[in-house]
Amino acid sequence: MEQHLPRQLLELIKYISEQAVRHEQRVYLVGGIVRDLLLEDPSLRSGLRFDVDLVVEGDAVRLAQQVADTGQAKLLAHHRFGTAKLSYGDFTLDMATARKETYARPGALPAVTPGTLKDDLIRRDFSINAMAISLSSHDYGELVDPHQGKTDLERHLIRVLRTESFSDDATRILRAVRYEQRLGFELETQTARLLKRGTAMLDTISGDRIRHELELVFGEEQPELAIRRLAKLGVLHRISPFLKGDGSIAERFGKARRLKRPTQLPSLYFCLFIYAFGESELGQFLGHLNMPAKLSHAMRDTLRLKNTLWLLDRSSLKPSEVYYLLQEYDTLAIEANAIASESSMVHRYLQLFLTKLRYVRTSLNGEELKRLGISAGPEMGKVLQILHKARLDGEVNTKADEKKLALSLSLES
Ligand code: ATP
Repeated sequence: MEQHLPRQLLELIKYISEQAVRHEQRVYLVGGIVRDLLLEDPSLRSGLRFDVDLVVEGDAVRLAQQVADTGQAKLLAHHRFGTAKLSYGDFTLDMATARKETYARPGALPAVTPGTLKDDLIRRDFSINAMAISLSSHDYGELVDPHQGKTDLERHLIRVLRTESFSDDATRILRAVRYEQRLGFELETQTARLLKRGTAMLDTISGDRIRHELELVFGEEQPELAIRRLAKLGVLHRISPFLKGDGSIAERFGKARRLKRPTQLPSLYFCLFIYAFGESELGQFLGHLNMPAKLSHAMRDTLRLKNTLWLLDRSSLKPSEVYYLLQEYDTLAIEANAIASESSMVHRYLQLFLTKLRYVRTSLNGEELKRLGISAGPEMGKVLQILHKARLDGEVNTKADEKKLALSLSLES
């Protein structure tokens, strides 16, 4: 921890640990951060990974409140279910009361009661995510690893803790593949068998939860690896029979990364993910996954534009014609089509729109046109449109050119 965690975060963790001792509670670092510490993941040191989870044997909300009362950190939120969020400098930290979970039926959300650290670790998805590091002063830094997660890290294996793991919560199917591909690991033999048998259980979980897991996949550095693997395992087909994970996805996702900043990539990946769909198949998919309205709109536009691309497959189009064909579409849809289109001519037009045409503006504004004697209302609208078109086509290049054209138009009318 000393070697891999940023100083500020260590200070906060130590402070919480002191408070815990004072109030006779035990605190542990848990989950992904423990896994990444053991992997000596360099992104920890840089502080890029802000996801820090603590488990408290006792009462996490009370402990978080006690820490906040001393003024060392700020309590951002707390919940009835024993979870609290603290912030300190650049970091936020999630604290949760150790919990025990039981599943009434597959796919249902679990019933939760307070428990011990051991209860809290056994409810977790995979052995490599079910380790903890003690933060109590008498055994500070000691690894708690009841499910041999460290051995699995060394053997590069993703292993579930219980045979019912995937049927209790089928989101773990997507999570298993995400970690497997991110870390370059393999599904342990029995886990792979259980996963394949469990794919039907994807039908038991809500579309929202599937969408959330896909969003996490699309947050990975190379999501196409997980997508290809999910396709091979028959998981994609279970989510929608029209989803494909073939080579074209890898090629398109790679191009997307050259085009977009990381925070904007997941939405573009979604548009590329459904590129082979028909419009009615997309409708079903969006409904099933309860996609947010803005992204649904971009995905629908992606297919609408795909079906109109032939209009752009002509060498003689003027820039203004390209502009009027494309202006009504969501930018994401244009980007997705620029990536996926096989015609170099279409690609060139889409790129021209994205890099240039969509930014073209007239220099003259309404006030200036009024001063030239053009009255506000439909006449001005028409003049502005003609000026904009002339700008797009390079027929006017300066404000003076625009003035001349505007005056000639007002003389005509
Ligand atoms: P990442 O690097 O992807 O953020 P993480 O391990 O921090 O990994 P989170 O999704 O933040 O992942 O979850 C935190 C921890 O909660 C996991 O390490 C795992 O122990 C547990 N967890 C999350 N989702 C599940 C689940 N569906 N079933 C069981 N345990 C889960």
